Amino acid sequence: MMCVQTKFQFWNDENGPGRPPSSKPGRVEKEQSCSSRSQVALTPTPALLPPHCTFPNTCIYCYPSPAMSHTPQRARHLLAAPAFTTPTHALSRSEKTRYSYERAKATVQAYRLTMDDILTLSPKFWEIHQDPLMALDGSAMTLITIQINLTAGTLARQAVNRPELIPVVEDLLSFRKSGQFLMTEVGHGLDIANLETTATLLPSGEFVLNTPSPSAAKFMPPTIPAGLPTVAIVWAKLVANGENRGIRPFLVPINDGKTMCAGVKAKLLSERGGCNPVNHAITTFHNVRLAPEAILGSIEKSASPRVELTQSMWRVACGTIAIGCLALPIMKAYATIGTMYSLRRHVGGPNDRLPIMHFRTQQIPILTLTAQVYVMEAFIEWCTSLFSDTTIDFRVRHAIAGILKTTIVGHSNAGGIAISDRCGVQGLFSHNQMTAMHNETRGIAIAEGDVMVLSIKLVTEMLQGRYKVPPPQNSNSFLARHEKSLFEDNRAVLASCAHHRSDEVNRLILPQCQPIIEAMGHRMAYDAAVAAGVSQNLIDLYEVSCMKLDAAWYSEEAGIGRRALADMESNALDAVLPQLGRLVGQMNVEPWVSSKIVSDERWDAFVEGLEVFEGQSAVPVFRTGETAQLEQKVVRSHL
Ligand SMILES: Cc1cc2nc3c(=O)[nH]c(=O)nc-3n(C[C@H](O)[C@H](O)[C@H](O)COP(=O)(O)OP(=O)(O)OC[C@H]3O[C@@H](n4cnc5c(N)ncnc54)[C@H](O)[C@@H]3O)c2cc1C
Repeated sequence: MMCVQTKFQFWNDENGPGRPPSSKPGRVEKEQSCSSRSQVALTPTPALLPPHCTFPNTCIYCYPSPAMSHTPQRARHLLAAPAFTTPTHALSRSEKTRYSYERAKATVQAYRLTMDDILTLSPKFWEIHQDPLMALDGSAMTLITIQINLTAGTLARQAVNRPELIPVVEDLLSFRKSGQFLMTEVGHGLDIANLETTATLLPSGEFVLNTPSPSAAKFMPPTIPAGLPTVAIVWAKLVANGENRGIRPFLVPINDGKTMCAGVKAKLLSERGGCNPVNHAITTFHNVRLAPEAILGSIEKSASPRVELTQSMWRVACGTIAIGCLALPIMKAYATIGTMYSLRRHVGGPNDRLPIMHFRTQQIPILTLTAQVYVMEAFIEWCTSLFSDTTIDFRVRHAIAGILKTTIVGHSNAGGIAISDRCGVQGLFSHNQMTAMHNETRGIAIAEGDVMVLSIKLVTEMLQGRYKVPPPQNSNSFLARHEKSLFEDNRAVLASCAHHRSDEVNRLILPQCQPIIEAMGHRMAYDAAVAAGVSQNLIDLYEVSCMKLDAAWYSEEAGIGRRALADMESNALDAVLPQLGRLVGQMNVEPWVSSKIVSDERWDAFVEGLEVFEGQSAVPVFRTGETAQLEQKVVRSHL
C-alpha cells in the first residue's frame, strides 16, 4: 500500500505540529521519510524504512525527529526484542503474564533509574510514566509503577536513614527482585485507616503478621510467584502490648520466584475484563515472623495517627499523578489508530470511494482527542514540575495530582470510547488494543486515588478555604469563568449548610465535586497550553471540547447557545483538520501500536496468522429418497 493520501487534504500542515515553528528550538530541519508502508513490524528501524518518500511532507508514516516529540523514546529499541515482537493476543493468560513481566523488567532496566530519581521525582521518573509501553501492555506498566514508585519509593524514603535498605531498593530498580505493595483489603479499599491486618510486636522485637478475618485479606497485588523473588510493603495495624499504635508499612518477603514463603498464601483472582492480565491475587498471612527491621517507621504511637498515615503513604500521592500520566500514551494510541483506520477504511462504489475520515462524525472524536493530547502534554509538564517542587504546600501538590488525574482520565475515557465506536466492530476486538486501553484507563481512575473520592476530598477542603490551587493566568477565558462560577456557587451552598459533613453536603455538594475538579483541570490545562506555546487552533478546539461538557452553563451564564457552540466547534475542527496527519505522526507512538486495522499489510499478516479450519466433509441439507418419503408419511399420519 502506498502512503496514505486521500483527496482530502488532511496532511497539509500550515502551522506545523502542536506548536508554532518558532516556539520549539531544535525543530526538525530535515525529515527522514518513507515511500510506502510495506513493513508490518512494530519497530520500523531506519534500516527497514524505504529510502525515499513520495510525499515527504504529508505522509503520516514519515519518521518525525525525536526533537519534535515529547513521547519518550528511551526504551524504543526494546521493540525489536522477542518479548515485544511476539503477538500476545492469542496466548494463554500465563504466557501473556510472563511476557508482561519480561517487558516490565526490560523497560525498567532501559531507564536505569537511581534512588535519586525516585526520591527527587526526576524528569526520568515522569518520563517512564509517559512511556508508550502503556498503550502496548498496560499490565507491564502496572508492574513497573508498583515496583518503582510504590515499593522502591516507600523503601527509598526510609533508606535515606537506613543504609541496609539501599541494596533492596537497588534490587528493585534493576528488577532483580519483584516488588509489591499490599495495602487494599477485601473489606477496606478507600478507608485505609481501618485496615485489619495485624503486625504484633513480640518481646524479642520481632513482629508476627496475621490476617485476622477474611475481610482483612489483601486484595489485588500480584503476589503469585512469577520467576523473580518477590518482596512487598505490607500495610498493617501495629499492635504492641495490646495497644493499637496505628497503621504502618512492613517489608515482607512473599515468594522466592517459584514458591510462596512460609505462612503467606495467595489465591489467583480471575482476569480483569478486557485488560492485559496481571496476576491479581488475594493474599493472607498466618503467623509470619518478621525481623525487627521489617517495620518502616516508628513503633511508638503517633500524636496524630491521621497525619502520620498520610505522610507514610506519600508514594500513593505520587502514584496519583504518576499513573495519571499513563493516560497520555493511551490517548496518543487512540488518536493514531482512529486516524489510520479512518483513512484506510473506504465506503462507496469503485468510482467514488471515500475514506470514512471524510465524515464529520469521524473527525470530531479524532480531532478532539488530538487537541486534548497536545494540551494534556503541556498540562502534565506543568503539573509534574509543580508536584516535584518540595517548597510548595503538600496539600496543594496533592490537589494538583488529583486534578491532573481526574482531568486526563475524563478525556481519555470519553475520547477512547468515541474513537473505538467510530472504528465499528473492529473497535471491539482485543487485537485492536482499544478495549484493553479503555479498561486500563478505568483501572487508572480507581487505583492510587479513586477520582470520585479524591475529588470529594479536595473540593470539600478547598471550599472550606484550607488551601488554594494556583489561580488562572487567563482569568477572562471561558474555562476560567466556568471554574470560578462552579466553585463560588458551591461555596455558597456549603456556607448555608450546618456542617461540612452534614447530610445537605452529602446531597448537594458531593455530586458536584468531580465536575468542579474537572473544571479546574480544564482551566489549568488551558493555561498550561497557552504558556507552553501549543498552537492556538489546538487550544481553541480543546476549549470548545470542554465547554460542550457543560453546555447548559455556557448557555445560561456566557450567552453561548447551542448553535453558537456548534459553530465554535466546527470552526475549530476546520482549523485543525489540515494538520491532523502531522499532529498524529508527531505523537510518535505508532511503533507501539499493535492494532491490526492501521494498514492493509498489518491486517493481511494478521489474517494470515489466524487459526484455519478446513476439511472435506459434506452435510446434506435437503432430505432425499426413502428417508424423506418415510418422514412425509409420519407427518401426514399426525395431521
Ligand atoms: C489496576 C489496579 C491495580 C491495583 N493494585 C493494587 C495494589 O498493587 N495494591 C493495593 O493495595 N491495591 C491495589 N489496587 C486497589 C486500589 O487501591 C483500590 O481499588 C482503591 O483503593 C479503591 O478501593 P476499592 O476499589 O475497594 O473501593 P471502595 O473503597 O469499595 O469504594 C467504592 C466506591 O464507593 C464510593 N465511596 C467509598 N468511599 C467513599 C467516600 N468516603 N465518599 C464517597 N463515596 C465513597 C466511591 O464511589 C468508590 O468509588 C489496585 C486497583 C486497580 C484498579
